[in-house]
Amino acid sequence: MLTDTHCHLDAAEFDSDRGDVVSRARDAGVGKFVVPAVERKGFGKVLEICGRYPGCYPALGIHPMYVEDACPGDIDVLHSRAGEAVAVGEIGLDFFVEGYDRGKQLSYFESQLRLAQEFDLPVLLHIRRAQDAVLSCLRKTRVKGGIAHAFNGSLQQAQEFIKLGFKLGFGGAMTYDRASRIRFLAGNLPLEAIVLETDAPDMPPAFIGKARNSPEYLPKIAEVIAQLRKISVNEIMIATTANAVEILELE
Ligand SMILES: [Zn+2]
Repeated sequence: MLTDTHCHLDAAEFDSDRGDVVSRARDAGVGKFVVPAVERKGFGKVLEICGRYPGCYPALGIHPMYVEDACPGDIDVLHSRAGEAVAVGEIGLDFFVEGYDRGKQLSYFESQLRLAQEFDLPVLLHIRRAQDAVLSCLRKTRVKGGIAHAFNGSLQQAQEFIKLGFKLGFGGAMTYDRASRIRFLAGNLPLEAIVLETDAPDMPPAFIGKARNSPEYLPKIAEVIAQLRKISVNEIMIATTANAVEILELE
């Protein structure tokens, strides 16, 4: 049984067929889904979906690209609902797109790390062009670990995350031949550091073109990493699910 450690099942793209998507994914061998919120407005929907579909686990947090519209009261709401989540996420830093307020991103990231520390929860990290900045925040505010989602840093940065108790998430990006660095990492990092994800409905893997991504494609993503590592899909499945269960303390 596979675990999709990052899947936005709450996205509007799934409103018309969410139940079918979950059952097709389950039929394909995906048994657990981690559903991270991106903004306070979405907390209720994420919790409702995870309550409705067995095997779905909620994470609550404010995504760096949504910090622009966030207010301090959102952190209070997060504080009041964090006990219902398996992780704080999706949180992090995104310095890729120009024009976003980096100071505000940092301040929301830091307060959410402190909240994760207070609740003893792992975190789900979104990191773009900000690997070292995220690492320095994590050294300042020690959390119990978590997942660096859609990891796209260097080997050395990967090793720093691992030292801090993190797993690294690999998904659609790894299916593109040109993604040589990500494919190298997916093929060579210690197996106990790796978890799988789709990031559905975003990050479509190469084999579906530009179509809506879905957790039902996770088995094919698992085949890609099995080929890169020259081991069986079964070994990948057992190890990556064990890693996800361990780091997020899933039942
Ligand atoms: Zn995401």
